[in-house]
Amino acid sequence: VSMRPLILNALMEDAFKLANKMIPENIEHICDTCNEHLIINADATQIQQVLMNLAANALHAVAGVENPKITCGTSYFKANENFMQKHSHSQSGEFARISVRDNGCGIKKDHMDKITEPFFTTKGVGEGTGLGLSMVYGVVKMHNGTLEVESEKGKGTVFHIYIPLSKSLE
Ligand code: ADP
Ligand code: MG
Repeated sequence: VSMRPLILNALMEDAFKLANKMIPENIEHICDTCNEHLIINADATQIQQVLMNLAANALHAVAGVENPKITCGTSYFKANENFMQKHSHSQSGEFARISVRDNGCGIKKDHMDKITEPFFTTKGVGEGTGLGLSMVYGVVKMHNGTLEVESEKGKGTVFHIYIPLSKSLE
């Protein structure tokens, strides 16, 4: 593990290039990076692994849907008090947000609490180990970050990762 200040959008573009190799052409996939120059203190390899895991899950989720689409992106997030009460890690309340969204099958409400547990999977033998999101969760924690999931059965899912900015924008 080597944590160093990294330019978020450069990291995202590298990860997107890698993910592109596994996402077939018939699936619309876009990378939507923000205009701000955000710097996070991070381990590049681990963040890339996180993005690959989220992309792999998104890819699986859109199998069979009409007009499959996967979007990843970055954005600047200034936390409000409510967010800071839930996630106290950042001093300034300024975060880099990394999001991966799909319009796939969605996650059942009963499963939402379990998806980051090691070995929880709804996939068949050989299709999933149930370790992807537990790895994602571990890496996010190591970066003093927060993981959020919003999902609606049959509509899609978005994963947001919040990592404290290493330098304030102001
Ligand atoms: P695996 O992919 O090996 O099953 P993960 O830890 O990556 O393990 O994910 C755990 C479970 O969470 C999956 O089996 C699936 O049920 C659910 N899941 C994760 N990402 C998505 C997604 N984008 N859309 C729908 N379900 C998802
Ligand atoms: Mg997975």
